[in-house]
Amino acid sequence: MTGVYYYNGNEYQKRTPLTEFEGLVLASAVSGAILSPLAYLGKPFMNQLKKEEPNNHIYKDCFEKALKVSGLDERGVEIIPAQFANVEKQFREGTNACFDPITKKVVVNTDKISCAGFHELGHALNALKSKYGVKYLAKMRYPGYLIAGLMEYFAIFSRTKPKGAPRSTGDIIEDNCGKIAFLAMLPVVAEEAIASHRGINLAKKAGLNEQLVKNLKKLYSKALLTYGSRAVLGGLAVFASRKIMDYFTRPKLIDDNKYYVYNEY
Ligand SMILES: [Zn+2]
Repeated sequence: MTGVYYYNGNEYQKRTPLTEFEGLVLASAVSGAILSPLAYLGKPFMNQLKKEEPNNHIYKDCFEKALKVSGLDERGVEIIPAQFANVEKQFREGTNACFDPITKKVVVNTDKISCAGFHELGHALNALKSKYGVKYLAKMRYPGYLIAGLMEYFAIFSRTKPKGAPRSTGDIIEDNCGKIAFLAMLPVVAEEAIASHRGINLAKKAGLNEQLVKNLKKLYSKALLTYGSRAVLGGLAVFASRKIMDYFTRPKLIDDNKYYVYNEY
């Protein structure tokens, strides 16, 4: 008989490509729904970023000093004013900023969001001027993203083995893909928190006034909230996708007992 799978003396019904497809559609819909709050969770940060713009001239002055105060200029770190650079739109328009550890450039629209720059200098400190542990965290960023992304792929893989079958390494990864996706993002979240902390300290050292230091702390905690929720919701989305694909694609036990019970009448 085709479509039947035997394991441990039990008979299992293999799933058809159609049920796999149904599972995939449902899994994408559910993980999309789980991730949808991220659009809202990022809003408080973006709103405050806009609100800080009238103070930009104060932040900017301090940000340029902060590069010297940190000693990062001696390590080859440069500030690239994104508004004049040939960079991605989000950086040019001042909705995002970044530090590139390879070119050692801090890319930020200094006419709009210099306030975000301190955090990027914090990343630079993590990558270039820190003890092994934090340096390691900074190095784990990209592998972290990679592993978390890979887990989404594992989550939607079709199950070919029935429940209770011996587990290979790949199966164990599949069984725990939600947890792994979450854990892989933790170094990213931790490194973000440390970058913010160091950025705020730099701003203080460079002479940023008390009120704006307060604003900076608020702004950075909102950014961290989005990173934290991304890790949690990302893990949950992968977990849910896996459960759904499990339900739709794992070979189903053919339960002969129900016939026996029925025959007893
Ligand atoms: Zn960051």
